Amino acid sequence: MEDKIILKKDAPVKFETRKLTGWFSENHFYGINKEKDEDNARYCECTHYECDKCGSVYKKNSYCKRCSEAKREEVFYSLEEVKYNGGPFFIYQSDKIFNSEEEYYDYIEYDSIKDFDKLVLAEEGDYLEKGAINDFLENYFSDLNIDDFEGLGPKQETQKMIQSLEDAIRKEIGTVYYPTKLRFKL
Ligand SMILES: [Zn+2]
Repeated sequence: MEDKIILKKDAPVKFETRKLTGWFSENHFYGINKEKDEDNARYCECTHYECDKCGSVYKKNSYCKRCSEAKREEVFYSLEEVKYNGGPFFIYQSDKIFNSEEEYYDYIEYDSIKDFDKLVLAEEGDYLEKGAINDFLENYFSDLNIDDFEGLGPKQETQKMIQSLEDAIRKEIGTVYYPTKLRFKL
């Protein structure tokens, strides 16, 4: 059966005045439900929210900055405090890394850092984990079901090459620092 065709000019519309009961915003009718429809209509017409927790007023498509800041503080102070004994570190919740105290003091001399006393230690790691390429190839070959074919798959010589390729890449791309859950003050 063919779909019925209705052209725009033939569309069965009519102009009428209807009586509706319920919640309206300026241009839209929502419905009669006290919770949902009233809320939607109010949402449509309002520009700002009042924070449930602290009463601050903020833009409706934003979030309460005061509470968010307080949450950051809370999380920071929940980290275990340690004495700084050297090593790389971050400013809390930033990707700014310092390799030494000197580097840090040089930095804050010229830049004002809001959380300058909030520091988190970092742990060294490699961008490329040991055995990453080998693991990748093993998975790759196993997806190909290469084991079913006798004599296929990387030979010992190739394994060695993969190993030295990994070492070379690791050397080139260097070290990554992961923030730990320890904090300290300088
Ligand atoms: Zn708030």
